[in-house]
Amino acid sequence: MKRIVEPLLQWYFQNKRDLPWRKDKDPYHVWISEIMLQQTRIEAVKEYYKRFMTRIPNIHALSELEEDELLKLWEGLGYYSRARNLKKAAIKIEQEYHGIFPKKYEEIVKLPGIGEYTAGAIASICFQEKEVAVDGNVMRVYARVEEKDIDVSDLKTKKQIGQEIQKILPDYPGDFNEAIMELGETICLPNATPKCQICPLKALCYAHQHHKEETLPRKVVKKEKKEEKYTVFLLSWNNQIAIEKRRDGLLKNMWQFPNTDGFLTPQEVCAWLGEEYSPSKIVEGISHTHIFTHKKWLMKSYLLLLEKPIPNYQWVSSQEIENEYAIPTAFLPFLEYWRNQRI
Ligand code: SF4
Repeated sequence: MKRIVEPLLQWYFQNKRDLPWRKDKDPYHVWISEIMLQQTRIEAVKEYYKRFMTRIPNIHALSELEEDELLKLWEGLGYYSRARNLKKAAIKIEQEYHGIFPKKYEEIVKLPGIGEYTAGAIASICFQEKEVAVDGNVMRVYARVEEKDIDVSDLKTKKQIGQEIQKILPDYPGDFNEAIMELGETICLPNATPKCQICPLKALCYAHQHHKEETLPRKVVKKEKKEEKYTVFLLSWNNQIAIEKRRDGLLKNMWQFPNTDGFLTPQEVCAWLGEEYSPSKIVEGISHTHIFTHKKWLMKSYLLLLEKPIPNYQWVSSQEIENEYAIPTAFLPFLEYWRNQRI
């Protein structure tokens, strides 16, 4: 691997993308962007990042922000525990480090929501600590350059790759970590799409020399996701819709539209509402499938016009949702549908 350091760095300095969080090496900026980038595309993150920084420009502001407002800013990014952990970590930094982001990997990795990869990225990029940051991109580049038939989902393999890369980290570990990730994100793309012809490592890459770049690393057989079925109720009254906080499970404490297990028929929906709240109109709404890391929610909906509000729900207007309530991505298509179809 040592042979790739110089050409990779040269390529990176000439080609690195101009990203909003690369304007400086402020750990707050790198931290927030790294957390946002987990499970989310760079293009989608850019706008969220700018909005976040305008409203929450530093650790102190983050530590004091109301959770509801934080979740509203995070709305659409999904995996809301990331946002909650950001706030927990900010409070910890305020209390234990006088509001100054810790410099050592061992301290950073103990902050809520920060794993080995993120700690390595922050420590190396912001504080020039010789730490590795191994993600899927790095593992793919490594597997191809070294022509190794590895399973990138195996944690032991990840650790071994980290140890190999640790040995070759140059004096600018942050630049190296960013460079190899950038190569994986823009040139050494997954599956059968690497752009070897324009790759700075073309002459050094064993997989390319032996025409194996499209088959390495080994494809990971994904486990089937467990499917769950739900019926979602879009209860409409007086130009308002009913929402409630989820009590448990996935998306706990997030706002949602009332729902129940299984797919209900219109007759079953009326029975679920009870005679007192029998709808004056019932329309079968859209269906939507939302995919989580380990689960798949299959949801169908009903739009129901009520003559009086059911107590215990929060009744909110479209504008109030827009301004104050964070609706998880899984339910956003239903919100959009209700806005367009109001009955
Ligand atoms: S030559 Fe191709 S396979 Fe090798 S590192 Fe570059 S893009 Fe990846």
